[in-house]
Amino acid sequence: MTSPQTPAPDELSALRRRYRHERERRVRPDGPRQYRATEAEFGFYAADPYAEVQAEREPLRDTVDVAVVGGGFGGILAGARLRQRGVEHVRVIDTAGGFGGTWYWNRYPGIHCDIESHVYLPMLDETGYVPRWKYAPGEEIRRHAVRIAQKYDLGADALFSTTVTALHWEESSRSWVVTTDRGDAFRATYVVTATGTLSEPKLPGIPGIERFAGHTFHTSRWDYGYTAGSPEGALTGLAGKRVGVVGTGATGVQVIPKLAEDAGHVYVFQRTPSTVDVRANRRTTAADVGADREGWAGARRENFLRIVAGEEFDEDLVADGWTSSAALLEKLLPSFRRPDDRADFEAAYEAADAAKMNEVRTRVERTVTDPATAEALKPWYRYACKRPTFSDLYYPAFNRGNVTLVDTADTHGIERVTEDGVVVGGAAYALDCLIFATGFSVGTSGVLSGKLPVHGRGGTQLLHAWGQHGIRSLHGFTCNGFPNLIQMGSLQNASSVNYTHILDEQAVHAAALVAAAEDRGALLEPSRAAEDAWLATMAQGAPDHEWFHAECTPGYYNREGRGRPNGPHAYPHGATAFHELLRRWREESMDEVLST
Ligand code: NDP
Repeated sequence: MTSPQTPAPDELSALRRRYRHERERRVRPDGPRQYRATEAEFGFYAADPYAEVQAEREPLRDTVDVAVVGGGFGGILAGARLRQRGVEHVRVIDTAGGFGGTWYWNRYPGIHCDIESHVYLPMLDETGYVPRWKYAPGEEIRRHAVRIAQKYDLGADALFSTTVTALHWEESSRSWVVTTDRGDAFRATYVVTATGTLSEPKLPGIPGIERFAGHTFHTSRWDYGYTAGSPEGALTGLAGKRVGVVGTGATGVQVIPKLAEDAGHVYVFQRTPSTVDVRANRRTTAADVGADREGWAGARRENFLRIVAGEEFDEDLVADGWTSSAALLEKLLPSFRRPDDRADFEAAYEAADAAKMNEVRTRVERTVTDPATAEALKPWYRYACKRPTFSDLYYPAFNRGNVTLVDTADTHGIERVTEDGVVVGGAAYALDCLIFATGFSVGTSGVLSGKLPVHGRGGTQLLHAWGQHGIRSLHGFTCNGFPNLIQMGSLQNASSVNYTHILDEQAVHAAALVAAAEDRGALLEPSRAAEDAWLATMAQGAPDHEWFHAECTPGYYNREGRGRPNGPHAYPHGATAFHELLRRWREESMDEVLST
């Protein structure tokens, strides 16, 4: 990890001081409590702007083979992999009005995936689809989600605009009773939960937010009725309008240049600047990615996974900002292995990090013409503290006469919202429209949030059981006392920035579990001893990220500056090793989870 721009030791200590100072300016005593849920009087921010009006339907009382909670990529992949295993009656249920999950909800102007489309879009080998851009627009991704759902015939029995309200294990029928907010109470032999992680939009708890009399919405519920246009732009409804955007994370970075093209004036209310690296999006052909070779997509995403997990590799097929900065990201990744000489490693890591961040700060300086604006756009923290972003349009947008950056770091964000606009540092900004690009609540959807109560054997509630004994599972999928329940998502397993790859491996595993239980006429339920063994594996050599996050600028990666990464523990040896472990386990030890 050396770099030609490796900073000198005195520069490094000056950077350390600057990073500490910038962090201290931003840490708030209320931490994650500073946000508001999009519920009750703020519930309109989370309403579905895309769903067709739902016709009344009779509540369902039938029985299916598998109920899949969630119609995003996780649920779709689970459905597809189950179908490949010959499972017939699969019912996907989602609050949204259609398939796509995050790509259903997020349709804001400028939306693209920032992971290469040829590794992000799942089941390319199976569907024969070859993405047209290196980084696909959101609509192409949403359509691909629908394409998979159609290929595996998941639409006919799907329940949309329907939220699962509870799951109850019924001993007499050896099945789950699935209840919903539309009055359904149907049975499912198996339940797969794929409820996502960052799915509930959140708002900042700014005083007076409810008083704003202009138009307002969250980026994940874009109001094209007001702005006109499409994700590609032409937002003619914003002509002459004063538009405020709160938030400069991965969403803000994509949306702000598009707003700048069409709005009368855009005020960007920034609290912490993102790192915005080179995007270099381009059209791609099948030949560019070797799509004529069988299994090309699987091989490509495996290669990407290895590189971003800090594993050894021969060739970098994707060759982009993620793979080139993998050494800097590995701090956050579970495969991060303890080096023999920790001190040397830390020093080399810090120097490489500083060189990378200097490169980003130089990019700002070279692009943004107003020196004060350029200074305010420079990020002062270590690269992996916040999700890196990529855009070639973001910094140039600040050279336009109709874009004003308003830095809010000194006041911990916007001070107050009034009927007419917002107040920062005593200055009032009159606005016609206020758009929140303020992200999503972490861990507030699905099983872990308690919003989907799961009652297993003897009526025991899953979260109560975990509250008493800690989270327990076998590989994150199955739990003792909760037969035939398979959980997908981030739970005692391994993750990666290319999350659809993770979900697909999970879906393959979920389908194999169901197929094995069907073959043997058994229930899926690990013993407590199997759970204990998995907990012991997870505890071996777990990497220590605590010190890194403790020094980071606040954000959802470190619970707003509290210094702890979110979520349950992860498998300590990384995603590639975890997938290999699952494959071997399926061949050799499947009996461990089958009970009669
Ligand atoms: P984030 O949580 O990353 O960003 C929220 C933004 O709102 C931050 O800039 C935050 O500032 C700001 N903010 C919050 N409260 C206030 C306040 N009171 N005043 C001013 N600013 C405030 O949300 P995003 O929607 O941008 O991204 C969420 C995640 O979604 C990403 O990290 C990524 O995982 C995913 N994503 C992925 C994309 C892709 O292409 N794959 C595209 C978009 C999103 P501060 O930093 O100071 O807290």
